[in-house]
Amino acid sequence: MTEEWQAGRLDSDLDGVGFDTLAVRAGQHRSPEGEHSEAIYPTSSYVFRTAADAAARFAGEVPGNVYSRYTNPTVRAFEERIAALEGAEQAVATSSGMSAILAMVMSLCSGGDHVLVSRSVFGSTISLFEKYLKRFGVQVDYVPLADLQAWSAAFKPNTKLLFVESPSNPLAELVDIAALADIAHSKGALLAVDNCFCTPALQQPLKLGADIVMHSATKYIDGQGRSMGGVVAGKAELMKEVVGFLRTAGPTLSPFNAWIFLKGLETLRVRMQAHCASSQILAEWLEQQPGIEHVYYSGLPSHPQHALAKRQQSGFGAVVSFEVRGGKDAAWRFIDATRVISITTNLGDTKTTIAHPATTSHGRLSPAERASAGIRDNLIRVAVGLEDVVDLKADLARGLAAL
Ligand SMILES: *Cc1c(COP(=O)(O)O)cnc(C)c1O
Repeated sequence: MTEEWQAGRLDSDLDGVGFDTLAVRAGQHRSPEGEHSEAIYPTSSYVFRTAADAAARFAGEVPGNVYSRYTNPTVRAFEERIAALEGAEQAVATSSGMSAILAMVMSLCSGGDHVLVSRSVFGSTISLFEKYLKRFGVQVDYVPLADLQAWSAAFKPNTKLLFVESPSNPLAELVDIAALADIAHSKGALLAVDNCFCTPALQQPLKLGADIVMHSATKYIDGQGRSMGGVVAGKAELMKEVVGFLRTAGPTLSPFNAWIFLKGLETLRVRMQAHCASSQILAEWLEQQPGIEHVYYSGLPSHPQHALAKRQQSGFGAVVSFEVRGGKDAAWRFIDATRVISITTNLGDTKTTIAHPATTSHGRLSPAERASAGIRDNLIRVAVGLEDVVDLKADLARGLAAL
């Protein structure tokens, strides 16, 4: 080791730097080998210098790795980078987005607690609450995302947690996160935000007053559809519980996936800017097409919450949903006529995807439940990727021609 390295060149000095610098550099603890990119540590356990060292590390008296279900240097680098980007005191990585949500609820709620969930959350999130958490006595009610009065009215004396996804999928509804955080705190409850659709590049819920934030890193944080993972971030005092649950229950992130997500974060902002720019062009263009009845995109001035989206987010995201003239058959014809875009329900990928929510992501709901969720048979969802926007427009024009 050189003098310079001993003087602190192992890590970057990141005091007061901006988001993009953090995205590229936060969390890296360079080894004495001097690797420029982050190292991957594929090891399940760690050796100790002496028996006394082992005892001290197990007792937590000396910091250091013990076992990769607890900590792993590559995973820790990802956790520190995400914490820096979300403005969180601490973050912990998980094996998927769903295990991030599971860990958050298992850590913060007990049987008998009441949870308020926004109505239009991810399908597996609803199944998690309905099929499993209810079995352990967690009470759940659903609230229309945007309606602050409905949130206030839905509280019970035992309401512990509010859980929202903003913007919602696929209709791009928003909630005023700062206002909802005030409501939650005035009643002694916590606000949790699934920030998967915006990522910290477009929205930082903790800075708006939320208590805890979760991601499916599988989506934009990876950004190229390669790996599953998730993360929970928030104040250290809440995260202590989440970390404890994850270390015990075990849905932790592999170092390989953590490394992919580290690389994903380095390009997150420029990717999100490109995703948003193409989405805006396509949404504006779709809105002018006679075959399209309605476009749901918060970047359009016609969106009822356009002003809130501008204030709360630094970009409008990359999910553009629209209703075509006609019913299910017309929507299916539109989808089948595309030649470049992938027919799949995934999102947050360089590759643009197209899906029919009524028969896929929302297919298990009853017609009445679908109607109350606003999912009509003529609705199509496009998650805009990074291809040339002229090619995407030409592909959607094939869909329009097939109507
Ligand atoms: C995909 C997704 C999840 C679940 O994440 P996985 O990584 O698939 O487990 C949770 N919330 C939202 C909003 C998602 O899009």
